[in-house]
Amino acid sequence: MTLTEKDSQYLWHPYTQHKTSQTPIAISRGEGALLWDENNKEYIDAIASWWVNPFGHSNKFIADAIYKQLTTLEHVLFGGFTHEPAIKVAEKLMEILPKNQQKIFFSDNGSTAVEVAIKVALQYFFNKNEKRTTIIAFENAFHGDTFAAMAASGISFYTQAFQGMFIDVVRIPVPIKGQEEASFEALKNVIEKHNCAGFIFEPLVQGAAGMVMYEPEALSKLIGICKENNVLTIADEVMTGFGKTGKTFAMDYVDADPDMICLSKALTGGTIPMAITTFTQEVFDAFYDDDINKALFHGHTFTANPTGCAAALASIDLLQTNEMQANIERIHKSHLTFQKKIESHAKVITARTLGVIFAVEIKSDSEESYYGSMRTKLYNFFINKGVILRPVGNIVYILPPYIMTDEQLQKVYKTIEEAIEMV
Ligand SMILES: *Cc1c(COP(=O)(O)O)cnc(C)c1O
Repeated sequence: MTLTEKDSQYLWHPYTQHKTSQTPIAISRGEGALLWDENNKEYIDAIASWWVNPFGHSNKFIADAIYKQLTTLEHVLFGGFTHEPAIKVAEKLMEILPKNQQKIFFSDNGSTAVEVAIKVALQYFFNKNEKRTTIIAFENAFHGDTFAAMAASGISFYTQAFQGMFIDVVRIPVPIKGQEEASFEALKNVIEKHNCAGFIFEPLVQGAAGMVMYEPEALSKLIGICKENNVLTIADEVMTGFGKTGKTFAMDYVDADPDMICLSKALTGGTIPMAITTFTQEVFDAFYDDDINKALFHGHTFTANPTGCAAALASIDLLQTNEMQANIERIHKSHLTFQKKIESHAKVITARTLGVIFAVEIKSDSEESYYGSMRTKLYNFFINKGVILRPVGNIVYILPPYIMTDEQLQKVYKTIEEAIEMV
């Protein structure tokens, strides 16, 4: 039996309707921006395996750091204990995060990082005896698949089975160009009408919505409105963090600082699942009390796993090298050139670039749903050509590992151009 046949016997895949979906591709090996399947077919990983892998597959520098940690201290519980890798990650993050971030809390994935942030926002006001229970989020947001994260997410078919079972979330429009005022007004309105605890947002780019982008000035204004009204702000940098937008964090473009930041995905260079939620001292202090009930009673078994911490430290080291910063700049410029070339194409609605993120919207005769027919046609075309891209409806985006070569990038662009001709 092939791996694919054995897979269908036992495995349940994410976001997959097994009755109608195609069989998964069994990948046996990866190096740099490339992956090979069990029949040795080569693929370019143009979406960094769901945005986690900036430094390439099977990265030796991170692997060595992991091996060294595994053979020194692989894991120890974090309740009542601590260790150097966690402390070093904290010290490193203090150097690179917005200066108001002072405390870090570890968990396992993007959803849990968000879950922690939302729970902290709600308990912050509970601890202060203030009744504030509403969370504000953007339309079409994606914050993960655990319950509070799902509640904050606005992509409906992900969450429709659970409507009515969620914490209170009120949605406001994203301040995309030309619609900033509507977004500001909606926020003011929501704050006036509800007892709002927090506002969660994907800064500058909504990944799962199809790399929808908006300007730092608009976000700065929204954060300002929240601050005036004592509403906590949560920047979900799970996708945007660690260089994707051209700066270390998307929030580095924004004048205003958030109260909390969620990190995961590229945190460990795509090796070990790990996440972090960071906080201001002021948020932490609302839990600091003689009363044990004011503590944050949240934790995960693998909290601050030392091996994950070692992977994170090695990844941040790689990100900070001149070579990697030059790669980010190189890919950004390359995207801009491609954008210029393609945006006037008759079948292109619009194209956009931020950092290493590029997206193009393709004209479609029918209303394109997320998993609609154009999406399937595009996806299959790319896979046949040996390029891994996962379109969102009629939006094709590239989020390459930073080490992708110019030659590989050109192949990705060429394949997208061919796909546009084909659909
Ligand atoms: C992927 C993602 C999450 C969820 O992360 P998981 O590790 O899949 O739980 C949350 N927020 C954003 C912005 C994401 O892109």
